[in-house]
Amino acid sequence: MVIYNPRHSPARQASDIMHELAHLILDHQPATLIMSQTGDMAMRSYNEKQENEASWLAGCLLLPRDALLLCKRLKLSPKEASRRFEVSETLFTFRMRITGLERQWQAAVKKFG
Ligand SMILES: [Zn+2]
Repeated sequence: MVIYNPRHSPARQASDIMHELAHLILDHQPATLIMSQTGDMAMRSYNEKQENEASWLAGCLLLPRDALLLCKRLKLSPKEASRRFEVSETLFTFRMRITGLERQWQAAVKKFG
C-alpha cells in the first residue's frame, strides 16, 4: 500500500508514488515503525542508502534518458517538458544535468550545427 498526500501537486504525487514503487522494485526492507506504549508517539527507522537508491530510480523511471532526448529534439522548455511528463521542473533540470545530456547536446550542436 502506498500512501500519498492528494493535496500535493500532481508532479509531487507522481514523484512520491514512484519513489515508493522504486523501493518495491529494489526489494528494499520496509522501515520499522516503533510506537510508544501510550501510542501517541511513533519513530520510524531510516535507511539513507535505500532512500537515495529509491529517489535515484524514481527519477530514472519518471524521466528516462530517451524522454529527455525527446524533449531536446522537440525543443521543449523545462516548463513545457515538465508539464508534459508531469514532473517538477526541478526534477527535469536535475535529470538533464546529471545524465550529462544537456552537455552532450550542446557539444553535438557545436560540432554538427
Ligand atoms: Zn523512501
